[in-house]
Amino acid sequence: MIIDAHCHVWEEKNMSVELKEIIYQTSKNFGLDPDLMMDGTSDRLIREMDEAGIDKAVIVALDYEFAFKGDFTFKDYNDYVANIVKKYPDRLAGYCGIDPRRGKGAIRELERCIQDLELSGVKLWPLTGFYPDDKEYYPFYEKVEELGVPILFHTGTGPPRTYLKYNHPTHVDTVAVDFPKIKIQMAHIGDPWVNEALTVAMKNPNVCFDICGNWAVVSKFAPVYLFQILAQAKMTCGVGKILFGSDWPMFVSLISLKEWVENIKKLKRPPPMEILGLPDFSEEEKRLILGGNAARILGF
Ligand SMILES: [Zn+2]
Repeated sequence: MIIDAHCHVWEEKNMSVELKEIIYQTSKNFGLDPDLMMDGTSDRLIREMDEAGIDKAVIVALDYEFAFKGDFTFKDYNDYVANIVKKYPDRLAGYCGIDPRRGKGAIRELERCIQDLELSGVKLWPLTGFYPDDKEYYPFYEKVEELGVPILFHTGTGPPRTYLKYNHPTHVDTVAVDFPKIKIQMAHIGDPWVNEALTVAMKNPNVCFDICGNWAVVSKFAPVYLFQILAQAKMTCGVGKILFGSDWPMFVSLISLKEWVENIKKLKRPPPMEILGLPDFSEEEKRLILGGNAARILGF
């Protein structure tokens, strides 16, 4: 089974003006096609999952309101994701997006999303301006623990006009240590803090990470570098912590879902990496990265 553990769904009509602007700026920075990036409809996602042979994907809502104002509220976004999951229950799982700075409102929305909307996890987007390990948010994490759902934390680099400092993996480490029962997924292996993210995953049994977004692009333009990162991950914390993901539709104008899946399937140790003593990947290990790990950890 192939599982994409980190995707988005969005449409231009339900995006705030400010978020749209940020997406356009991001597309410029990375040389992406903004129109392809904006087209995040679920029908397109399912079509491209079919082309790539992806069985299941996690789609995540974003609570961006503290940073990017607009008419489409975080509750609207959570409803939007839940409705899409209801349309494709065999193919998609949905995570709500909630900013813990909402206090009791965050807890109430979490209960609504998990119990009423039947979403299966929560995405936190610290880059909008909060440190995840602030004790003020511990009641929120207690509720997450009680509901028994995973948290997907954004870690690492973010869009323009957002602060990098909130996205350091060590903030996630604190939450992971204090809430050992919560399953935590760090997005993007914390890039550029890959070593730190791998260390956090290594020392905490409840932490894994995904290779979504920029790593798909790296697989196309610098495959040896991606190999080195994945081999380092394998040596640091084992293949069992690596989850395949794409951040669809962010980077599809540079690399399709199908190509990204193929690049993992083709993963093979280049000769210089052998000289460096880095380990290769067996077919079984690639199967785990592509979906076996997500199925086990996230319970699909
Ligand atoms: Zn993402």
